[in-house]
Amino acid sequence: MAWSGNFLMAKIIVIGAGIGGMSSAARLAKAGHEVTVFEGSERTGGKCQTKWVGDYAFDTGPSLLTLPAVYRDLFLKTGKRVEHILNIEPVDPAFEYNFADGTQITFPNLSLKAICDSIESVLGKKAADQWHNLMQRAEHMWDVSRGPFVESELKSIGSLVRRKGFLSDLKTISPLTSLRKLTAKYTDDPYLSKIVDRYATYSGSDPRKVPGVLLTIAFVESSFGAWHIKGGIGQLSVALENRCHDLGVKFELNSPVTKITYQNSLATGVEVSGKSISADFIVANADAELVYNKLLPSDLNQVKSERRKLAKATKSLAGFSLLLGLDNSKIKGDVPKMAHHSICFPEDYDAEFDDIFVKKIPVDDPTIYICAPKDPTMVKGENKEAWSVLINAPRHEPGTGWDWNQGSALYAAKIIAKLDALGLRVSERLDVVEFQTPADLESSVSAPGGSIYGTSSNGARSAFLRASNTSPLKNLYCVGGSAHPGGGLPLVGISAEIVADAIGRAK
Ligand SMILES: Cc1cc2nc3c(=O)[nH]c(=O)nc-3n(C[C@H](O)[C@H](O)[C@H](O)COP(=O)(O)OP(=O)(O)OC[C@H]3O[C@@H](n4cnc5c(N)ncnc54)[C@H](O)[C@@H]3O)c2cc1C
Repeated sequence: MAWSGNFLMAKIIVIGAGIGGMSSAARLAKAGHEVTVFEGSERTGGKCQTKWVGDYAFDTGPSLLTLPAVYRDLFLKTGKRVEHILNIEPVDPAFEYNFADGTQITFPNLSLKAICDSIESVLGKKAADQWHNLMQRAEHMWDVSRGPFVESELKSIGSLVRRKGFLSDLKTISPLTSLRKLTAKYTDDPYLSKIVDRYATYSGSDPRKVPGVLLTIAFVESSFGAWHIKGGIGQLSVALENRCHDLGVKFELNSPVTKITYQNSLATGVEVSGKSISADFIVANADAELVYNKLLPSDLNQVKSERRKLAKATKSLAGFSLLLGLDNSKIKGDVPKMAHHSICFPEDYDAEFDDIFVKKIPVDDPTIYICAPKDPTMVKGENKEAWSVLINAPRHEPGTGWDWNQGSALYAAKIIAKLDALGLRVSERLDVVEFQTPADLESSVSAPGGSIYGTSSNGARSAFLRASNTSPLKNLYCVGGSAHPGGGLPLVGISAEIVADAIGRAK
């Protein structure tokens, strides 16, 4: 570390230029540190990318932004407000849910009352009241979990138990009750239950196994809204990279870190292309499984506890994505009208989770999520639509699970046939088609098995099985979807703030 005036400036290396890596780099550079980001691939952004194919721009990763306040705060605190840089727009309706029997429920954006009215118009007053009560419970859970569980480092169960108000908070959160069981206490409506179940997949998990506190995701989405970024959610990566450049952060692309070096229980730097580079602090945005099992030697005692935790955690599910460029001028008659975010549920939702987590096979009759942005900057020309379609999928685990290097083209064709069977007239107007398997995600951004979110939230102790932000190996920190508090853009942004603050305190 070096003095700059009366300020102690540290040399910091960030491993990975995903959203978590760049968010922490920006915060640390703004605090006056010298920050270099080593990125293994040829581009920044990690999973968060908007990709042009022909006349169509597709979000290949996130296609929904929730809790934008996290990024408003980041941009505000590191320079100019985000409103000067990105056009973050509310999406209304937030979601359209389609069920196998033809029932359709629309969720308007940013209004619990409007959602309840919409539910009442389709399912009746009783169901609307049940949803209202569920969301009240979710709000309560959010109020008590936000500070100690989400926005702070989760050090140990012991540190939580010693907190004032712990017992009453415990009652609100009911950590041993699964999301499925908690929902059942409020409603027996099969449509509402499916809608709640789906929130488990926002953390790559199984609704029968995740703690009921994941209901907070439904509350956060309906209260703080569903948002789109003009040009694609991948613009967030572009804006973050630019912010980092403005703050003097150096980027080294095509530079995979192969080793984290250490001495006497202190992380001291990294190795890139056989060269050792020293640093005062290392921030690892690479998946924690790689950090602890590949970048550090297996006999390093200090990190045994982290390795043990990660070995016990269930990995997050993966995703099979289809990028569909549709040219509506190819068809005659009515063009199906799509909401920005549509969900098409299968008849048997449980079969999907059994296929993914138990049988580890591609889902035969999957839930289909279609993101069809109403954003003219994401297509070139008239009458065109760029759909990002996401199917939950088992991880890429050749030998022990599914091998996504086989049968993917057939699976893509099967999904397109399902979309046609739903009356969406995809084949007739298909102009561009690409697909991305879990194996592709693994090779492009080093996401083990193609998991979308690192570890899942399956099990009451899952939050304690994620990598800690402050590693037991001193001067090493973990940020991003595989570390606390978990995956998804809002939580990843929060993890960056936790890590930047922890380094600020450690100097
Ligand atoms: C298909 C899909 C859909 C999604 N949908 C949503 C959504 O709608 N909303 C939402 O909020 N979230 C969504 N997510 C999740 C969200 O994209 C992630 O949680 C988030 O982008 C992860 O950011 P991260 O910081 O953990 O880094 P990552 O994006 O995982 O990036 C890590 C970076 O580290 C680099 N790296 C790895 N190892 C090394 C090494 N040894 N040396 C140097 N660099 C290395 C990688 O190349 C990568 O660039 C989705 C993800 C996917 C894949």
